[in-house]
Amino acid sequence: MAYVIPAPIQATLPVVGSDDQFPIHRIYCVGRNYAAHSREMGGDPDREEPFFFMKSADTVLPGGGDFPYPAKSNDVHHEMELVVALKSGGDNIPQDQALDCIFGYGAGLDMTRRDLQGQMKKAGRPWEIGKAFENSAPCSALNPASSIGHPGNGRIWLEVNGEVRQDGDLNQLIWNVAESISYLSGLFTLAAGDLIFTGTPAGVGPVDRGDKLHGTIEGVGEINITVV
Ligand code: MN
Repeated sequence: MAYVIPAPIQATLPVVGSDDQFPIHRIYCVGRNYAAHSREMGGDPDREEPFFFMKSADTVLPGGGDFPYPAKSNDVHHEMELVVALKSGGDNIPQDQALDCIFGYGAGLDMTRRDLQGQMKKAGRPWEIGKAFENSAPCSALNPASSIGHPGNGRIWLEVNGEVRQDGDLNQLIWNVAESISYLSGLFTLAAGDLIFTGTPAGVGPVDRGDKLHGTIEGVGEINITVV
């Protein structure tokens, strides 16, 4: 069997302590999953069901590095997030089995063209042009759960040019990792290779060319990007 065109290159992430790569299937992102961020975006954290959007696998910027400022925007924002990487999936996964599906965790950034996302929100249109552009998902090497366990708490923060802009704790997630996996698996068939960006703490804001972003999740990892 041959392909009629060259097959797309498999997007991957490096793995801490291994020369092998993690192959990426789908990328699911949870919206407004920290109460303080939900409020800063005009939401009501007490009433909202979880909601999701997606990026494609090849939007990942593996390991960070240079992040090219994307076209058609003057308001690109950082969103520092815990990333969950699945080694198995399925439909209707019960919460008490959800953590068994996890390969490991990474430190990621859900980079966002906020101006375009805002226009789409206002018009009731999909968010892709705000969210799913090239290099919009920088992510660190994955740290296997077999090494670090399943972090239920730990500081998550982002510095821009040495100044702390976002600061939270994983224990502030409105929908925790097991709940998010269980809920998502009622809507989609989850699979090995899926990534879940679990939402961002308060303090999102714009970046400029030349900015150096340094994100850390206690017990998980770090991500560095330079806006170019
Ligand atoms: Mn986000």
